Amino acid sequence: MKTLNSLVATLAALTGDKEYIDAIDRIWENIVTRKLYITGGIGATSEGEAFGENYFLPNETSYCETCAAIANVYFNYRMFLLHGESKYFDVLERTLYNGLISGVSLDGGAFFYPNPLASSGQHRRQPWFGCACCPSNLCRFIPSLPGYVYASKGDSLWVNLYMENTLTTKVGRNNVTISQKTQYPWNGNICISIDNISEGGPMVLKLRIPGWARGEAVPGNLYFYADSAENSYSVKVNGDIVSCELENGYFVIDRKWTAGDKVEVHLDMNVRFVKADNNVEADRGSGAMTVWLKEDI
Ligand SMILES: [Zn+2]
Repeated sequence: MKTLNSLVATLAALTGDKEYIDAIDRIWENIVTRKLYITGGIGATSEGEAFGENYFLPNETSYCETCAAIANVYFNYRMFLLHGESKYFDVLERTLYNGLISGVSLDGGAFFYPNPLASSGQHRRQPWFGCACCPSNLCRFIPSLPGYVYASKGDSLWVNLYMENTLTTKVGRNNVTISQKTQYPWNGNICISIDNISEGGPMVLKLRIPGWARGEAVPGNLYFYADSAENSYSVKVNGDIVSCELENGYFVIDRKWTAGDKVEVHLDMNVRFVKADNNVEADRGSGAMTVWLKEDI
């Protein structure tokens, strides 16, 4: 089902068929505003490895298979390619750092099949399963992660995920090498350097400003911040603060670049209190803290 969603999103992008686009938009909307766990996990019930009814999101019996989290990344990536909006990467990133990576232990030797949000102690990662889809799916997914960081079209380069890396690619007529220096998600400081640009020509850099840095816990209202704190962000080019109206959730810098240019992005990472829509029976009377793990913990 979730793989089918990815295929339909791809088909919709390739054909431009309005019925496919409308159908897959409705499915995405329904998942994100009714059936998504705060971890980005999906699939509330083990019976049929399926979604439940709208707002059916039990915590201890949640299924949230690791494979479903990986499929949620695939699906949202393809929805981004279809529409070019940052909200799809907001869901992708949430899933990546929560409901997906929870599927493997730090030493890489044990795995969760379901990823429940509550436990009375009966859940343990296992080294293997009779039907071992999740370990092998993780082994396939994790090396593919670099392919999700950037996207390009014409003379635009989208920076969708922040992590330390160097990219050499062609953007428009330019051969470009750029690098990111950051400890994200351990902190919210990212430095992007234009190391080389062949034509010294224009390039439109589109930086994703995550929804969580703009007061939106998730796209839609299934989860919302229930405190008075505020997250903010800033962008500097060669040391000077710059501003712009976000376009589809992206901070757009359209300029002539030269080697040595630097862009600094700062995203506030305050601890926030998050509540679920009151229709989610399992979450009534409770909330979640979004906690950023600091390097020194
Ligand atoms: Zn699996």
